[in-house]
Amino acid sequence: MNISIQPLTPEQTKPVVTSSAFGKVFSNRMYSQKWTVDKGWHDAEIGPYKPIVLDPSSAVFHYGQEIFEGTKAYRRADGHINLFRPWENAARFNRSAKRMAMQGVDPESHVEAIAELVRLEHEWVPTADGSSLYIRPTLIATEAALGVHASGSYLHFIIVGPAGAYFAGGFNPVGVLIADEYVRAVRGGTGAAKTGGNYAASMIAGDLAAAKGYQQVLWLDGVEQRYVEEVGAMNVCFVYGGKTIKTPLLSGSILEGITRDSLLRLAPDLGYPITEERIDAHDILRDIASGAITEAFGAGTAAVIAPIGRFGFMDKEYVVGGNAAGPVAKHLYKSLTDIQYGRVADPYGWTMKIEV
Ligand SMILES: *Cc1c(COP(=O)(O)O)cnc(C)c1O
Repeated sequence: MNISIQPLTPEQTKPVVTSSAFGKVFSNRMYSQKWTVDKGWHDAEIGPYKPIVLDPSSAVFHYGQEIFEGTKAYRRADGHINLFRPWENAARFNRSAKRMAMQGVDPESHVEAIAELVRLEHEWVPTADGSSLYIRPTLIATEAALGVHASGSYLHFIIVGPAGAYFAGGFNPVGVLIADEYVRAVRGGTGAAKTGGNYAASMIAGDLAAAKGYQQVLWLDGVEQRYVEEVGAMNVCFVYGGKTIKTPLLSGSILEGITRDSLLRLAPDLGYPITEERIDAHDILRDIASGAITEAFGAGTAAVIAPIGRFGFMDKEYVVGGNAAGPVAKHLYKSLTDIQYGRVADPYGWTMKIEV
């Protein structure tokens, strides 16, 4: 391992916090390394969590070369800690970097950096039911120059912080507004990359949905505004007849979720055949109205499974499954989280155990 571990001073050592809303509190340490043309990746270290000092002309502030990841560390019943598919996460980080013309990282060193940071900060991994330590790897362009071209230097860093249970108030469905004005991403664009600009582009539709009483936005494709893509920052699934699951086929503008990929593998083993298809939003609304669709849910690391109880479209409302979490969503949620928290054996080789 070539990560230099910096000691913390007493001022840099805040008391451990294990209960906090998502994304508000971060642990005492962070990982970082730098890339330049001359030196390649260098100065890998885990040191105190602290502000980053950048030149105001740094490329990230102007042209948005920025990517990130989101993954979690889960407290096992035996006290040790699990990472969930960190290798797929690292691979996606590099796919995002490539799309944004940024320098990728060595995937093994990246996973090792996460594992080492989590090991050092293991006390920050909560034990409460449904909680976790959220891990946010990030890569930003740091070249101090305003020319429009790929940056010649990068900063890679990883921060971690406790995340309380997503469903603290119960496994309750969300309402989703189908976006008929804005799109999130287009084919050939950056929708498949976890890059900040996609989220910046989505905020306005999120605000519109919130003003109409919905918690999330359902995104349609950017060409015909007809085919279902994602829900908020999650992939989306529809359950037919309490059994068969449909999820949109990756279109180039859909982000390839690791939760989605895990469901493609897990759901059939639990007796739910799952297909990837181009899904017309009008068919979805028809099938909700007829009762053919019995459940809908989002899938992503934050919630794992987020049941959807109602869809709004053109001032009409379509209620799914009586606006209550359905049995398939509950079953998938339990089965996947059982693997993540190490409550059952992991037949898929998805977890990486960190001994603490
Ligand atoms: C991160 C993300 C997802 C879900 O990916 P997971 O790997 O399952 O967490 C889906 N859509 C978007 C837009 C995302 O940013």
